[in-house]
Amino acid sequence: MAPFPPEASDGSGISPEERYSRQIRFAPVGPSGQERLGRSSAVLVGCGALGASLADLLVRAGIGRLRIVDRDFVEGSNLQRQTLFEEADARGSLPKAEAARRRLSAVNSAVAVEAAVSDLHASNAGELLGGADLLLDGTDNFSTRYLLNDYAVERGIPWIYGGAVGASGLVLAVLPGVGACLRCLFPEPPPEGASPTCDTAGILAPAATLVASLQAAAALQILTGNGAAACRDLRQVDVWEGSVRSIRVERREDCPACGERRFEFLRGERGSAVATLCGRDAIQLNPATDRELDLAALEGRLRAAASIVSRNEFLLRFRVEGCEVALFRDGRALVRGVTEPARARALYSRYVGD
Ligand SMILES: [Zn+2]
Repeated sequence: MAPFPPEASDGSGISPEERYSRQIRFAPVGPSGQERLGRSSAVLVGCGALGASLADLLVRAGIGRLRIVDRDFVEGSNLQRQTLFEEADARGSLPKAEAARRRLSAVNSAVAVEAAVSDLHASNAGELLGGADLLLDGTDNFSTRYLLNDYAVERGIPWIYGGAVGASGLVLAVLPGVGACLRCLFPEPPPEGASPTCDTAGILAPAATLVASLQAAAALQILTGNGAAACRDLRQVDVWEGSVRSIRVERREDCPACGERRFEFLRGERGSAVATLCGRDAIQLNPATDRELDLAALEGRLRAAASIVSRNEFLLRFRVEGCEVALFRDGRALVRGVTEPARARALYSRYVGD
């Protein structure tokens, strides 16, 4: 994959002066900040509720280039809060990264938006994250966040952590070499199943959009040359209480990442399993080797044994043995209705092959 797509050409007939006039009038941005933003690039990992709002805000603001990495496809239960997606995206099982790219190119055709339908893990981190000025967290899991933190701290790239569940959320802008990192705050990821998730505790859309707004504001500060103004405190928000709290986080000498520079997640020593739990009753399987599946041919073979839900150019969904499998072109699969990795792997080898 090339580091980034070439700059998009703006066929909108709307001049940058007109489009960004109100943002340029805001003194800390001004013409030079806007110009700087237009030359900058970011990678957004995860395009759910946080990611969709973040991408929308930054593309409208005129970031130069944005790569969106997401492993999932749009479903009906996403539409309550994932503001880039429409009913047709859910009906068509469109990958979130691709649905977001299509919507965003209609919002601002001057921005080069790239969709990467992929799961970020240690072995593809360089390919997916390379070349960016800023990394943005729209994920829903700690193993990916610790990987992002390792990558950003090792390379000295800023990244912005965000998370939301229920009515509350957390935001931390990580500026390597300047402030604390995620592992200064939480040295170890919480054990799986220990913290509430959107699947178990639900989520209110305003909580997600508030967190995304704080992340986007920090992104604008960093990318317009106002990084010194970026808040280095942890912000804790709750839209039900209407509260925003700032908590000072100090750098730790014994931080495994920014203190001792042990990047266990980036080295693949931790967090990158072949099978990972993904939501309440789903397992993701990552193929051991790169492959390119012929989904149409596979659909033909599966028709006798499985019930086909849908197929598009990106993925094939089918039901079999009480589970639903979403199989992506690169061989990755999301298996719903299972909690045991071994059972998910058995289904995979039986119906897709090893
Ligand atoms: Zn640290």
